[in-house]
Amino acid sequence: PIHIPIFGEREIDLLRECVESNFVSSVGAFCDRFESALVDYTGARRAVLTVNGTSALHLSLILAGVEDNDEVLIPSFTFVATANAVRYIGAIPHFIEIEDQSLGVDITKLLQWLETTTETRDDGLWNKSTGRRIRCLVPMHTFGHAVDMDALNAVAAQFGLVVVEDAAESLGSFYKGRHTANDSLCAAISFNGNKIITTGGGGAILTNDDDLADRAKHLSTTAKIPHSWEMRHDAVGFNYRMPALNAALGCAQIEKLPDFIVKKRALAERYRAAFDGVEGVRFLSEPEWATSNYWLNTLVLDDNSGKAQEMCLELANSEGIMTRPAWTPLHLLPLFSDCPKMDLTITESMARRVVNIPSTASL
Ligand SMILES: *Cc1c(COP(=O)(O)O)cnc(C)c1O
Repeated sequence: PIHIPIFGEREIDLLRECVESNFVSSVGAFCDRFESALVDYTGARRAVLTVNGTSALHLSLILAGVEDNDEVLIPSFTFVATANAVRYIGAIPHFIEIEDQSLGVDITKLLQWLETTTETRDDGLWNKSTGRRIRCLVPMHTFGHAVDMDALNAVAAQFGLVVVEDAAESLGSFYKGRHTANDSLCAAISFNGNKIITTGGGGAILTNDDDLADRAKHLSTTAKIPHSWEMRHDAVGFNYRMPALNAALGCAQIEKLPDFIVKKRALAERYRAAFDGVEGVRFLSEPEWATSNYWLNTLVLDDNSGKAQEMCLELANSEGIMTRPAWTPLHLLPLFSDCPKMDLTITESMARRVVNIPSTASL
């Protein structure tokens, strides 16, 4: 398989402890414990658990001030959840290009695009062709390889954009020695079954802003005003809080995360050496500014026609080795075809050239 969970006795022990405590929902020690463990591991000031990565993104965008009819800059080369979270608010994804080395946002092209197509007014950045406000920029750390956040943040600052990281794939990845998800207003992580560690389903918002973390927790728990017995709510909130059962699994999994990273990096190194000098294919290595978790190991084929990719997928899968292309670029999905976008040549090319290969830490 491409990526499967690794569980042991520890997961069963903590799940049993959780069931026996009777606190299986969103109140209970395991949620606090998992949040503290995330804070310790990532160095972020606060972690707020959610039911999945998509809900973490949704809340993050709300807290970033994104409103109905705003545009949000996101790569087209990402999982559909990034764009869905934008649409949940009634905002519009505005698709931006990636570069072919890290498969993250092409910051140089983004700068040129913003310089030529937008206008800065007193009340923000406006798209000259759609007449909509552009509020927020969401880089995604593709397959665990960090975006160059210093360069990206410089562009965001120049244009007054709020940055939210889609760090769903980058738990355990570091940017210039700092854990990813620390270089923006807030970041969303995912603990889905195929991610680097899993809680079954789950997610978290990481932030260095206490006020934002408090509001995230409030909104994720139906905006209930804390009180021993009164049921009062001061906003339309969400039931997005991770249950303690899932958090118990997370507590066990995060203990193993450092070991998973060591093993995944060793596996990546073996792949890199094995494909070194093989014609027609490049193994996607970490960018110079990053220490990557190598969540999914990735081959980039030279052939731009899609034929070599199809051959790889057919041969490997028929041999019982699961391989997969990346996502269909979001701007090519009919549901997002009307969204604004820049030139996406590299995105479309990568969709025909990328092959993900088995990446489980125990491989
Ligand atoms: C996994 C993932 C998500 C969503 O996470 P879920 O927990 O599945 O909701 C969002 N963005 C990216 C890039 C992802 O890989």
